[in-house]
Amino acid sequence: MAELADALASGASGRKVVSVRVGPSALLGSGEQKEREAETKGERVGRGGWACYRGAMSSTADRVRPNQVVSFHYVVSLSGGKEVDRTGERPMSYLHGHGGIVPGLEIEMEGKATGDKFEIAVPAHDAYGELLKNSTKTYPKDSFPKEVAVGMQFAVDAQGGQRVPVWIREVKKDRVVVDRNHPLAGKNLNFSVEIVEVRAATPEELAHGHAHSPHEHHH
Ligand code: ZN
Repeated sequence: MAELADALASGASGRKVVSVRVGPSALLGSGEQKEREAETKGERVGRGGWACYRGAMSSTADRVRPNQVVSFHYVVSLSGGKEVDRTGERPMSYLHGHGGIVPGLEIEMEGKATGDKFEIAVPAHDAYGELLKNSTKTYPKDSFPKEVAVGMQFAVDAQGGQRVPVWIREVKKDRVVVDRNHPLAGKNLNFSVEIVEVRAATPEELAHGHAHSPHEHHH
């Protein structure tokens, strides 16, 4: 990894590649790039032909505001209509007000409640940013882990401790092309959203600045 780090350092030393790989939900959010399972609230108490879920009523009263954890399903399409990403069975969760999802969508979430559905067009500069010029570089393949593949994201420590994300654009026989542009940079996007839960963040989530899954803690 040292070679990649040095090459990206544009003359300065001290940068290194610090993390590897994100899932499909990397498409949403610069900070929170791993899909997390939403906390499932509610306890099934019914029998026979009916059921009710304790807790469901109280959460519908909550509205999205800073430091709430919001779980939602989404479909993202290009402005021409082509779908580029969507949640699977599990919704995406993020801590509102901490930059965990693209800015244009986070603003629109404010004040929404469980069960709300909406569509929003987000211009590139409020989504994944405008396209950066001269954004690609080529590195020896052995600078990367063996499983390197197109679309993977790497994070690089820049000077001052800032993390710079890069995406794998092309994998050749012995070289790899990385791009500082997110795959959706420069694109105007349409989001179709359904909010499935809004809850208060735990003290730990607030301390970390992101949402946690109840079943998994990965850091
Ligand atoms: Zn955490």
